[in-house]
Amino acid sequence: MTKYLLLLLLPLLSYSQRQTLDQQLFSSYEDYKEASLDKRRFKHQDIQPLIDSLETKNEFEITLLGESIQGRSIKMISLGEGDIDVLLWSQMHGDESTATMAMFDILNYVQKHKTILKNLRVHMIPMLNPDGAEVFSRRNAIGIDINRDALRLQSPESILLKNTRDSLKADFGFNLHDQSKYYNAQKTAKPATISFLAPAYNFEKDINQTRGDAMRIIAHMNKIIQRYAKGQVGRYSDEFEPRAFGDNMQKWGTSTILIESGGQFDDPEKQFIRKLNYVSILSALESISTKGYESSTLDQYLSIPRNDRKLYDLKIERLKFSYLGLDFEVDLGINHYEIENNDHSQFFYLGKIVDVGDLSTHHGYETLNAEGYEYKVGETYPKILDDFEAFRNLDFADLLKQGYTSVSISNMPSEIKFTPMPMNIIDVEKIMIPKSNSIPDSPVKLGSDATFLLKKNEAVVYAVINGFVYYLSENKNGVKNGVVK
Ligand SMILES: [Zn+2]
Repeated sequence: MTKYLLLLLLPLLSYSQRQTLDQQLFSSYEDYKEASLDKRRFKHQDIQPLIDSLETKNEFEITLLGESIQGRSIKMISLGEGDIDVLLWSQMHGDESTATMAMFDILNYVQKHKTILKNLRVHMIPMLNPDGAEVFSRRNAIGIDINRDALRLQSPESILLKNTRDSLKADFGFNLHDQSKYYNAQKTAKPATISFLAPAYNFEKDINQTRGDAMRIIAHMNKIIQRYAKGQVGRYSDEFEPRAFGDNMQKWGTSTILIESGGQFDDPEKQFIRKLNYVSILSALESISTKGYESSTLDQYLSIPRNDRKLYDLKIERLKFSYLGLDFEVDLGINHYEIENNDHSQFFYLGKIVDVGDLSTHHGYETLNAEGYEYKVGETYPKILDDFEAFRNLDFADLLKQGYTSVSISNMPSEIKFTPMPMNIIDVEKIMIPKSNSIPDSPVKLGSDATFLLKKNEAVVYAVINGFVYYLSENKNGVKNGVVK
């Protein structure tokens, strides 16, 4: 019996030995993931303990580069003894935090696997724009987009990034961002989960050694990401932007790689995308150390599909409705906006119809074909409930089947703006009497809340509540939250 077990195990053992670096990184990721960061919204104070804990370790050098406009420290973590200087900076845009999380994962990994950086000295600036991160917004405290301040250098965050690059004369730079989740890989329905760019350094978009090396590293990273997110890589537009850091870094002689973390199915906090950052950036660092990237080609870079922006969170196809005696068939594009709480630490979703018409060139993270279904605007439950508690105890699937998509409540606490239940709430104190209008509104309206029903043979089959689908026939509730109106 033991002999047979061994025979079974042997191929497994040799398989694990044959794993490439990226496969090892991918499969052992949970061992290195920084557990204290698990959502996109975190602040300067949340990463200070992580930086402080590195300060006590010999292999790390922590440099205070300066302060943000509002006085938050901006620090650089350096490690490695090699001659090739690699500078990575994240969250130049305060609401683009995916790579900051990945940076701390990478720091956990390299403590145990120092050989990966053999010929390198790596410098990381996590959260270059802490004032923006504090309010989860793109720009800094005076409203400047730091990525348009590379020449004028009006913000301390911009100045310290430029000075750091110059003093290091960094050979390679990683400019780490997030992009809209509505980008797709051109001519496909797949999201551009990661997009790359080797920024141009002039309007002619010439390719010199500096930019060419960035392209080769990206080609190498693309091969790796394709293994874990096939078809989900895009190439960002290389229109020269004279004011941007990536473009200028390239001009100043630092081979610069822009990474944009986009969207992924069922990954609202971008934890899988963070893992892709971790695997691909560590693989890129290894390839810079070994010069492995040199075997990748410019053609491989140029064959990455371009970024396009043709995705919605939910696409409804071939919806039929009537208005003023006319019949229409349209597609709907529906997006889920994030509405934040006051301290920018949490959010709820507001689903809106953002496009109406022929959307055959567009795609959805989720798609529902409405062909053969009857479109119905939902009704408000006729009984006014006394309080939120009474609301919580309702049978929501049953109400949806009866055609109700909202419930009126009196005595609604004003701080409650949404509900995890698949039903919208009407706060009776806020009801306004609609203006008398000789022409009624269309039942389908651009910019309106995406709440409606699709019926077949008199039965409600799909309830779309706040832009999310409740599949009533399967009793599958996909509604993240309803809203209070
Ligand atoms: Zn950005």
